[in-house]
Amino acid sequence: MSADEGARTVRQIVLLCLDREMSYLAPIDDIPLLQLLVQEAGRYRVDDVLLLAQPGIAGLDAFAAALPAQLHRPLSIRVERSTLPPHAALQAASPLLHDRFHVMDGSLWAEVDLDRLSALARTGSAIAMARRDDDNSAVPVAVCLMRQDLDRLTPASSAIPVPTDGSATLVVNGPVCAVGPGSHLTTHRAQRRKPAVFLDRDGVLNIDHGYIGSIDRLVWMPGAADAVRLLNERGYYVFVVTNQSGIGRGLFSDAAYFELRREMHDTLAAAGARIDDERHCPFHPDVADPAYRRVSSWRKPEPGMLLDLMDAWPVDRARSFMIGDKSSDMAAARNAGIAGHLFSGDNLHDFVAGILSQY
Ligand SMILES: [Mg+2]
Repeated sequence: MSADEGARTVRQIVLLCLDREMSYLAPIDDIPLLQLLVQEAGRYRVDDVLLLAQPGIAGLDAFAAALPAQLHRPLSIRVERSTLPPHAALQAASPLLHDRFHVMDGSLWAEVDLDRLSALARTGSAIAMARRDDDNSAVPVAVCLMRQDLDRLTPASSAIPVPTDGSATLVVNGPVCAVGPGSHLTTHRAQRRKPAVFLDRDGVLNIDHGYIGSIDRLVWMPGAADAVRLLNERGYYVFVVTNQSGIGRGLFSDAAYFELRREMHDTLAAAGARIDDERHCPFHPDVADPAYRRVSSWRKPEPGMLLDLMDAWPVDRARSFMIGDKSSDMAAARNAGIAGHLFSGDNLHDFVAGILSQY
């Protein structure tokens, strides 16, 4: 990522939980709504989460303490209590805020491209609006703010305060969910799930020349970043599922795997391509190290890694598929109940574009 891109990336989100009537921890697709919001923000490299909450809302501290361990990316999450209305609560929280940050209502989920919202907000504030189903009016579902603009927030009745000046607007056309009594928008729970692409790593994202455990041995597959970006643009979750018995065999460490994983994700992010989550399996039944010697339901052709991701994210299984370079990848897809596409190692973007033309 270039220095300019780094400066523009918005790293903080404030989730407003200021209405005691709302059920912020209610499950949507079996996942607490606040967790979904944090996961979604993490897809856009947000790593600082502030829950601005009414004192009367129970369970938030325990939720905030437990959540980071369940997430793919490291992030900090804090709970700040406030009895003020949204605009005043944000103004009072100013010392905790970055120069630029996103704000969303913690009882509302909408398909907002936070990168596009950030780009619109380069010289001021930007608002993502969604249309209500009942009266077709537009309401804000997310806003990207500059801290210096906090004093221009209006004490509007909306749960998300917006600045007084005319700001850039991004219209959200995807599904919107709300929880709690008096929901702002019609709930489209069934539409909320998104299809996912499960990518094998070695032989798909990068050339497989055997047990890749360090950055110096990484050679990207032609078209890899373009393929991931295309999948992002088409609205797919992009997950990586990779057998890494090289760890169990003692060829490289778990820490080395995670270092390479971070490097790969960062390189792709700099090219505008997001990996949303990843699972790896270090186990193998035949290795010497007893810590890693086991039959694992996560090791492909078993489907454990795919099923775990399907539990962690609201995945539309019927429209999801796997891309791998081995028969064990195809078997894992079959065992997880999704389609499998065998990649022969040419150009990944061309391969993915060909698959998408069938869906
Ligand atoms: Mg492979």
